[in-house]
Amino acid sequence: MSYPHLFTPLQLGGTTLPNRILMGSMHLGLEEAPDGFERMAAFYAERARGGVALIVTGGISPNRAGRPVRHGAVLENEREVTQHRLITDAVHAEGGRILVQLLHFGRYAAHADLVAPSALQAPINPLTPRELSGDEVEATVEDYVRAARLALQAGYDGVEIMGSEGYLINEFTAARTNHRDDAWGGDAGRRRRFPVEIVRRTRAALGPDAVISYRLSVLDLVPDASTQDEVLALAREVEAAGASFLNSGIGWHESRVPTIAMAVPRGAFARATAAVKAAVSVPVVASNRINTPELAEQLLADGVADLVSLARPLLADPRFAAKAQAGRPERINTCVACNQACIDHALSGRLTSCLVNPRAAHETVLSVGPATASRRIAVVGAGPAGMAFAATAARRGHQVTLFEAADTIGGQLNLARRIPGKEEFAETLRYFAGELAETGVQLRLGRAVTADELADAGFDDVVLATGVTPRVPQIPGLDHPSVVGYLEVLTGAVEAGPRVAVIGAGGIGFDVAEFLTHRPSPGDGDGAADFFARWGVDPTFRSPGALATPAGVAPHRTLYLLQRKASKVGAGLGVTTGWIHRAALQAAGVEFLSGVQYLGIDDKGLRIAENGAERVLAVDTVVICAGQEPRRELVDALRARGIEPHLIGGADVAAELDAKRAIRQGTELAATIEAIRESGRVAS
Ligand code: FAD
Ligand code: NAP
Ligand code: SF4
Repeated sequence: MSYPHLFTPLQLGGTTLPNRILMGSMHLGLEEAPDGFERMAAFYAERARGGVALIVTGGISPNRAGRPVRHGAVLENEREVTQHRLITDAVHAEGGRILVQLLHFGRYAAHADLVAPSALQAPINPLTPRELSGDEVEATVEDYVRAARLALQAGYDGVEIMGSEGYLINEFTAARTNHRDDAWGGDAGRRRRFPVEIVRRTRAALGPDAVISYRLSVLDLVPDASTQDEVLALAREVEAAGASFLNSGIGWHESRVPTIAMAVPRGAFARATAAVKAAVSVPVVASNRINTPELAEQLLADGVADLVSLARPLLADPRFAAKAQAGRPERINTCVACNQACIDHALSGRLTSCLVNPRAAHETVLSVGPATASRRIAVVGAGPAGMAFAATAARRGHQVTLFEAADTIGGQLNLARRIPGKEEFAETLRYFAGELAETGVQLRLGRAVTADELADAGFDDVVLATGVTPRVPQIPGLDHPSVVGYLEVLTGAVEAGPRVAVIGAGGIGFDVAEFLTHRPSPGDGDGAADFFARWGVDPTFRSPGALATPAGVAPHRTLYLLQRKASKVGAGLGVTTGWIHRAALQAAGVEFLSGVQYLGIDDKGLRIAENGAERVLAVDTVVICAGQEPRRELVDALRARGIEPHLIGGADVAAELDAKRAIRQGTELAATIEAIRESGRVAS
């Protein structure tokens, strides 16, 4: 067997798990959508079918005060039980097991009725919570118990009590947010009473067989929060109160330490879970940035944990467990931890999905079943749009030939993977290479195909996925030898000097700045140790909140990152990752300049106007990252030959292009191409 520890069964109360893979809780946005429960039933059933041992749903509030938003999902009455039945029936029909997560948002709630142990505003919420009275705390505990009873009635195998990430329960356990001096606060023991009572009374209500997971805040990663001794004391008390197992939560949402972004080394926080495992007898789950079966197996083999929690990796590939068990890990569509279609969507009120798998949480609306008629299709360009189209269309039964001018697939992802902290995109290229081979796509590398060749071959459809070309801005002195494009810098064709100005502060400007300023941290070369040193995590995990002073890294380049807009530099980056990119560059000494006018480039450097005042940035290199234009030279030539091409990715629209849109557009076109009558070979 490929992963013997990962595929060892585990008994939890009355439930037998076939393996050690738990699907961690994720808010999908479907909880609040009109047809959301039907869609969630399909979503969770697909993951159960894919072999995950135990699923935890997105958080559902035990009462109205705990909803994330005014219309947020609650589990408090029989009507809601009926809705949840759709999910549990679908999962059980696939032989799966599922817990509902009970999550009270506390002071993170985005509605006017938010409550907390103390009336202390969270730094990430403009709203201030009302302090719960002692009676209200008591009532809230009972609300959890009622919701847990309803969960069993709805067919769930149990519940997960969400005690981490800075939500209500975590707010009770940390001195930072609990300033009470009653039975629910005052010292660490009384701060623990709220979660312990919830677990104790829930166990009493549900009986011995139901599964109760407690998601423990293993590391708070905020100041004035729990020490490791306090975390371990809570773990023991929750165990004694009746938890079946302990899941791990890492970092509050308001923490300034990245916990799940691509820049976090794989499995970096698992070592903190090992201390919990040593302190209790119930099974313990490791989580955060575990995205390969190799790493999962290693953590279990090393005795770090008894199970692993994969959340986003199961958005990316619902068949993760089945593929690992079949000894085909290279066929897993790996989560690259970009957050672009999952958490960034959830935080901006959009439905959750996945950059590398746009069907995630869209199973009922993006169907990729067999084609109604097979067509011969040419695809030009093997970037993310072309690869996604080609693989999906071929899997549906079309005959697909994919032309790529370069000698490798991937398009711009080959550049993205060179950026420090974005190496995970190599997994996406590996996955698509396997997909193209398995689905029988005819891949023609090193072929900048022409309109004549496409016309002569008589394809039924031509899909242009030719991407983009860098925009050339109008700036005096652009022909100065110090001026280079981002392609030359990232491919290593030119070496930037010690003083650099980057023109354009979009995603690529930021990445180029990171590429040019990145230096290894002063750690010992161990990825997690380096990361902890850079971001100020106490490697012993013993200090309050497990925080330490970040170790500085001496800048080795002077770098200016500029934009014409007056808005904050980086304002358009991802919700969950923009602050990380900004903080990393600031730590590297990068100067952000917004509202600038470019006056010219000469031997003295880059001349700009900043708030009306002229300034010369004395730089050796000026890197142009001023956006991109669609690459469409084949369009008119094809039309002249009677062929109306389909356009996807950057070839369609370059503005606000990213790999998420490219892959989604490619997949969507592939799902329906034979039904698009007006396109195709007009002359035939
Ligand atoms: P491309 O990736 O540009 O692919 C087009 C392909 O077509 C190329 O391989 C090209 O060689 C080929 N081609 C063109 N003409 C022909 C022809 N005539 N015949 C044959 N082949 C042809 N996006 C994100 O979502 N997240 C990120 O973190 C991210 N980071 C990035 C970092 C960098 C440094 C860069 C440069 C981009 C990044 N992107 C990121 C953007 C993302 O890579 C692009 O949006 C995406 O690759 C666009 O996909 P595409 O398929 O439309 O085009
Ligand atoms: P972009 O995000 O559109 O940024 C282009 C930058 O160039 C802007 O800062 C813009 O700012 C500036 N600019 C535009 N026209 C200009 C001109 N004529 N002269 C001077 N400056 C000009 O594009 P990008 O950085 O090339 O990125 C391309 C796509 O890749 C983006 O849409 C992005 O989503 C994606 N990407 C995403 C990530 C990610 O982490 N998610 C990373 C990299 C790339 P001003 O107009 O204010 O000067
Ligand atoms: Fe992972 Fe990115 Fe997909 Fe989210 S969108 S699941 S982080 S690959």
